[in-house]
Amino acid sequence: MRLVGNVEITRSLRPPAVAGAAGRYQQEDSEPDHISILAHCSDNVSVMSLLRTIGWASTGFAAAHVLESAWHRFTAHGKRPDPTRTGHLEHHRKAADPVDVPSEIRDNAARVGKTLLGLNLVLAPLLGLRRTVAFSVGLTAGLVAVNYYHARMHRRAPRGRYEEWMWRFHWHHHAADARVNFGLTNPLLDFALGTAVVPAEVTLHPNLVPAWLRAAGGSFAGIRTASPT
Ligand SMILES: [Zn+2]
Ligand SMILES: [Zn+2]
Repeated sequence: MRLVGNVEITRSLRPPAVAGAAGRYQQEDSEPDHISILAHCSDNVSVMSLLRTIGWASTGFAAAHVLESAWHRFTAHGKRPDPTRTGHLEHHRKAADPVDVPSEIRDNAARVGKTLLGLNLVLAPLLGLRRTVAFSVGLTAGLVAVNYYHARMHRRAPRGRYEEWMWRFHWHHHAADARVNFGLTNPLLDFALGTAVVPAEVTLHPNLVPAWLRAAGGSFAGIRTASPT
């Protein structure tokens, strides 16, 4: 057995030589084996790398839901003046109106863009550009998704048990207590911080009643209109 660098390793990948025509055929046929193994490894590497990129994008998407909930709690209902706080308090005054998501996104695009650029500059040297960009793309998609989900609670009636529960969760925040229920798509952070309150019935002041609830006759899935006094 000769051991010369990697030569022996390459040979070990070949099937044993067999004498005669069949042996020649086997040996010739075995030549591309290590090439196909290398190609297979390279395929595996690119699949793993794609999965990792998807993983970072999904992490960004999930982080958006936590960040929106934290923004709602600490900035939108915080004490310090902030343009997004002003916009959100206006949304509380006009909760009966549909939420205009494209204009919401336009208003916040420059601020969010600057924050994402800063985040990329800080994280890229630590995580690498591919991971940071995947995370940022997921985060941006998540922020847009949260805004559309929130707008839906003002635009249409809930469909299914989770939505009925979530609609009551959000409308309780509007109707009764703005110090609880800050999650805009899910209650996880509120449960973690002890600010989740979901009564079986939520009563809305007539000024807060959205069009979908009026169309449903004033009461739907535990959300109802208060009688005028
Ligand atoms: Zn709302
Ligand atoms: Zn609010």
